[in-house]
Amino acid sequence: MSTPTHAPAPADRWLHGAIARIEADYQRSADTHLIPLRLPAFAAQGIDLYLKDESTHPTGSLKHRLARSLFLYALCNGWIGAGSTVVESSSGSTAVSEAYFARLLELPFVAVMPRSTSPEKIAQIEFHGGRCHLVDSAGLVYEQARAIAAQTGGHYMDQFTYAERATDWRGNNNIAESMFTQMARERHPVPRWIVVGAGTGGTSATIGRYMRYQRHASRLCVADPAGSVFSAHYRTGDTTLTAPGSRIEGIGRPRVEPSFIRTLVDRMIEVPDVESVAAMRALSRLLGRRVGPSTGTNFVAMLTLAAEMRERGERGSILSLLCDAGERYLPTYFDPAWVAQCFGDCTLAQHKIDAQIGACGN
Ligand SMILES: *Cc1c(COP(=O)(O)O)cnc(C)c1O
Repeated sequence: MSTPTHAPAPADRWLHGAIARIEADYQRSADTHLIPLRLPAFAAQGIDLYLKDESTHPTGSLKHRLARSLFLYALCNGWIGAGSTVVESSSGSTAVSEAYFARLLELPFVAVMPRSTSPEKIAQIEFHGGRCHLVDSAGLVYEQARAIAAQTGGHYMDQFTYAERATDWRGNNNIAESMFTQMARERHPVPRWIVVGAGTGGTSATIGRYMRYQRHASRLCVADPAGSVFSAHYRTGDTTLTAPGSRIEGIGRPRVEPSFIRTLVDRMIEVPDVESVAAMRALSRLLGRRVGPSTGTNFVAMLTLAAEMRERGERGSILSLLCDAGERYLPTYFDPAWVAQCFGDCTLAQHKIDAQIGACGN
């Protein structure tokens, strides 16, 4: 019989060191800023809009939070050990953030992504020491990732399954708790609406559960891009539905992802691609710096909700996320020629968005 000891077993020693490295990384990081949007026409009506700036994480997007949670979850489940190859299926941002944490733990990392993923994201994954494996369509990433994990004896992280459960939804300074804390001194501290897009659905699940658990009167709206399956799934509850897939990077999926929890969502707003692009441009002008296309999608839904509130004479705040910065999309969504070829003419959408921003009630 072994004598009890307080020294960890050798396998635990690696695990404890790995968790400690992630915790130390967290300790070194600051919270992301909540930015009030300067929209005088709405403010005059008692409606305030805010964006939580998730682009300022070390890996540039809201996926930094998810990657940290997924690594801690996998470590504590005993799914990752010393030398494990970590594999992920991703449209890009998650892989950038996971490559960062894999390097922190000195683990090999492979990202399986659609060939259409932006070269900037591929470069960032490789910058963090990850390897990219490109496949021909978004629907193929899951099986490829599983196969590579099996071949290498590694671990398939599977963000689309585990995003909703890897994050502590009751609090622990998750994104929802942080938003509510940062709103404490605003004139409408409890938001009327929180708007998010859904890729994994993890962010909407965390926010939706947190709001209910805290018994807030806030409502959760998901902004869904064209081509995504989530809107139809929201209406019908059918988990077997498929769709062509979205052209707004990071959000909208071709299949109903297990992490998307429909019962947490109070409202779904479908956003045409040309409006996402127009709103991305309008918001970039408003903030004096570029935001990514999924932030544009969020902004379209925020403007829709704000217009409805104004019509009903409701006052209050609407919060959403600045998911990532536009610098990742300079050769794509910020190139007028690329946009014209992919989405056609955005002029009408631009007029509509500009009118919504400037003209309310005037
Ligand atoms: C992943 C992602 C989202 C959506 O977040 P989920 O929590 O996965 O639903 C939005 N925008 C960008 C840029 C993303 O990468």
